[in-house]
Amino acid sequence: MRLTVLGSTALDSIETPFGNRKEILGGSATYASVSASFFTPVNLMSVVGSDFPARYLSMFDKRGIDTSSLEIKKGKTFRWKAKYNYDMSVATTLSTKLGVFDGYMPEVPDSLSSSCNLLLANIDPDLQNHVLKKLKPAGLVACDTMNLWIDLKKRSLLKLLKKVDLLLLNDAEARQLSGEEGLFAAAKWISSKGVKMVVIKKGEHGALFFSKKLGFIVPAYLLEVIKDPTGAGDTFAGAMMGYLSRCRKINDRNLRRGLVYGTIMSSFAVERFSADGLIKTTPKDIRDRYSHFEKLTRF
Ligand code: AMP
Repeated sequence: MRLTVLGSTALDSIETPFGNRKEILGGSATYASVSASFFTPVNLMSVVGSDFPARYLSMFDKRGIDTSSLEIKKGKTFRWKAKYNYDMSVATTLSTKLGVFDGYMPEVPDSLSSSCNLLLANIDPDLQNHVLKKLKPAGLVACDTMNLWIDLKKRSLLKLLKKVDLLLLNDAEARQLSGEEGLFAAAKWISSKGVKMVVIKKGEHGALFFSKKLGFIVPAYLLEVIKDPTGAGDTFAGAMMGYLSRCRKINDRNLRRGLVYGTIMSSFAVERFSADGLIKTTPKDIRDRYSHFEKLTRF
């Protein structure tokens, strides 16, 4: 099945203990689409300004990502500035400039097939609700979010959760959203809002999966070098949804494997700044890391 990805396409300025980069390719939809494109055909739904570098558009093309729903609007591309300290699980946002995202509501033309899975990557929940309502996807609907939207738009987020099959969020966000300290209690609270499956990501400590039937835990892949954790969560969501879109059935085995692919793909993402770690990855790199991960976790 095709995967439609809605989210931000951005120019990020990032500072980590291992370097600084200005105005590099970023955005939740960017990481999620590039990651998913290793598994399934992807349709990217987002907006950029007239200042968005053409080389990034060519990169999407080279990866076979359909950009017909990527609007290019007069104005400035979304910009995000953030800083990480040695504990790279927490990004400190220094500035967010919406640019052409201000007032953006995609058209969702009738020609856009609803026979797709949908990944609502991190963006304003009003926009996520709008696209979900217009597209009415036949397949699986997944959603990601962040602390900013839990703070500013909790009501809209809760409305969305009623219609979402899979919510992915990190441990701090799960605690913030639910008001629960324990992650099991947080996942139960989130499920009570209508979500069927919940993935709670814990950075270098791996990820937890909860549904009525299944509980599953994956560690993170052990890396020697981590340069920039930006986009790890979006990459995880893209890989998991990309992999599930390739599967005939959403069963326990495929969900478990989806989580492992999420883990593997985010390990490539954090090894370099921007989406460079993902872009240089090959299908063989993914197979090799997947087998190594199996060896590391078998007992
Ligand atoms: P992550 O590291 O997975 O949380 O995602 C980082 C990406 O999210 C960056 O590339 C940013 O451009 C993008 N981002 C940051 N803030 C927002 C926001 N408020 N809405 C949508 N995307 C955002």
